[in-house]
Amino acid sequence: MKPCVFCDKEKSAERTFYESENFFAMPTIGQISDGGHSLVIPKYHAACLGEMGLDMVKEFDQVKAEVQSAVEREYGKSVAFEHGIIGQSVPHAHLQILPSNTDIFSTLQHRYPFYKKLDSLEQLREIYQNRRVYLYYENQQREMFVFYMDATPQYLRLVAAQEMGRTPRGDWKAWRSDPDCAKIDDLLVEETVERLGRLLKK
Ligand SMILES: [Zn+2]
Repeated sequence: MKPCVFCDKEKSAERTFYESENFFAMPTIGQISDGGHSLVIPKYHAACLGEMGLDMVKEFDQVKAEVQSAVEREYGKSVAFEHGIIGQSVPHAHLQILPSNTDIFSTLQHRYPFYKKLDSLEQLREIYQNRRVYLYYENQQREMFVFYMDATPQYLRLVAAQEMGRTPRGDWKAWRSDPDCAKIDDLLVEETVERLGRLLKK
């Protein structure tokens, strides 16, 4: 079987701007913001962040905090989200960190009335074990929420892009199908590697 895109190290080597023992970070293809839109990904194959072992959660928490503070230094306030195992473009855990002043919590709450506020990321693991399906969202104040519902592919991207007034960038495949937009996106990715790499590379 072919490894998934995030397990294929060669595919991400050029874009990786940060690495720890078990995680790496790189800009996402399909930048909603003008650069800085990043992914934190386990190096080993995990279906979603909720599947990570407790020892991994600690390391992930540190990596996440480092990447978030670098993103915020370069690009301003940010939100973070993950689809769990539902509607993933790649079936391998990846947290998206998106520079944004817009909090999409009320939209999510309206659509998904059943949610839980988390005290720590360790709770995400329990939720995954008990319920499997979740949407994870973290606002600019780093308050963490889990919504208990199914979702369509790219749902959180689409909502975030719409509320940021950047609807065309929500669906990354559609946006990149225009060669001019793909060119802009490539430049934003390249610039993100440079700016965040400068702050984070050891
Ligand atoms: Zn994988």
